[in-house]
Amino acid sequence: MTELTRRTAAELAEALASGETTSVELTQSHLDRIADVDAAVHAFLHVDAEGALAAARASDERRASGPPASTLDGVPIAVKDVLATRGLPTTCGSRILEGWVPPYDATVVARLRAAGLPILGKTNMDEFAMGSSTEHSAYGPTHNPWDLDRIPGGSGGGSAAAVAAFEAPLAMGTDTGGSIRQPAAVTGTVGAKPTYGGVSRYGLVALANSLDQAGPVTRTVLDAALLHEVVGGHDLMDSTSIDQPLPAVVAAARQGATGDLSGMRIGVVTELTGEGYQPGVQQRFDESVQLLVDAGAEVVEVSCPTFVHALATYYLILPAEASSNLARFDAMRYGLRVLPEGIEAPSAEDVMRASRDRGFGDEVKRRIILGTYALSSGYYDAYYGQAQKVRTLVSRDFAAAFERVDVLLSPTAPTTAFRLGEKLDDPVAMYLNDLATIPANLAGVPGISVPSGLADEDGLPTGVQVLAPAMADDRVYRVGAALETLLTRRWGGPLLARAPELAPALRGASA
Ligand code: GLN
Repeated sequence: MTELTRRTAAELAEALASGETTSVELTQSHLDRIADVDAAVHAFLHVDAEGALAAARASDERRASGPPASTLDGVPIAVKDVLATRGLPTTCGSRILEGWVPPYDATVVARLRAAGLPILGKTNMDEFAMGSSTEHSAYGPTHNPWDLDRIPGGSGGGSAAAVAAFEAPLAMGTDTGGSIRQPAAVTGTVGAKPTYGGVSRYGLVALANSLDQAGPVTRTVLDAALLHEVVGGHDLMDSTSIDQPLPAVVAAARQGATGDLSGMRIGVVTELTGEGYQPGVQQRFDESVQLLVDAGAEVVEVSCPTFVHALATYYLILPAEASSNLARFDAMRYGLRVLPEGIEAPSAEDVMRASRDRGFGDEVKRRIILGTYALSSGYYDAYYGQAQKVRTLVSRDFAAAFERVDVLLSPTAPTTAFRLGEKLDDPVAMYLNDLATIPANLAGVPGISVPSGLADEDGLPTGVQVLAPAMADDRVYRVGAALETLLTRRWGGPLLARAPELAPALRGASA
């Protein structure tokens, strides 16, 4: 018998359906794994053993007496700490929310609970989802399970590391500029950013409302599709949620897994390859493209000239929205409250200043300053206004490209996992990690990152990204699953089968 924690969510769902295991047994085995390895990985900020086991018992009782609540009923999941969870701490990786226990569930969390998925806990992240390494978490970084001295990506490094280290079969992440896809690429996992509005943002603590999107973090494309189906679809609580049927993502993943790419036209984005990409990343990408060609897909090169401005555009729009969103953390309603020293009768403003000074980290402060500057009168047109215009041009490049091809392809991230501390003092070097992922957020289109292999120079995982037009999420799952099948054949098995052996501290831990 394969150890329970090594199996995919789809396999676990089958094992539950056949009665081979129970939700209590497999939830407990993941809690055991967390107890064994999370001191080294630090994927979790909070583990809810009691709550997860109670949900698991309820799931087992449901199955004993009738139909399950969903395909994934009883399969445990980890949730990024930016999603509000009723009764469970939600910190967003920030001191300012330390100790906050939301009185409500994010819609995606409510849907997970209704579908019967036990919530193992909340995963680590860069503070308010700002970063590419989890080093901006106020609670200390997460370590990459492949090499504990390296970053697991960010901002959702906790979710990716939990899945890569077999602490959870599934996780939820959020992607504002790449925070699902980039961590997936550097941990050898699968991460999907749905169409903007395809999955509810209600209860997702906002970084930048026009860019934020919650989505699945898993070990296979099919698992991502199964999870997408549970959390996706219209939500009255989110006015930007799309009122249309969810694309048939599970059927598309199953079709793609057969390697069927008939009729698929694939475009390789000129601007997202070549210079700036680590040789091993580029090499695995080129091989992936060749595998698709060999499988019968039509592959052409497509130019999207404005993508070279996407990063600069994002770093005006994001701070502008973030600075406005973060104004709500005023120490009056919830979260940290610091009484300033040396002031006898502090005013509300004195308390706000002291609390925000202590409660926010450097990166958050940097973006608040950038954002308020970009929005200030006199500069608004020159910065924020210009950025919005370029954003429109990025969307037009996508529209033109999707007239010629069905999906676009690029490496997900320019490098493999770098060392902890390597880019911490260089914000621009940190921002450059999202070079390839940001255009999709600006245009609201869906994307998935699939592991493409290990880079020759360092033996670390790297990924390929598939992008499709808005509401054509099924295409990213179909091409993503086909790629996964072709690459698994190429490498003689799933990439992650080799992962934990690479991190000495995880060797010998129970699987
Ligand atoms: N790394 C990017 C940033 O720092 C993306 C973050 C995200 O997607 N939440 O903004």
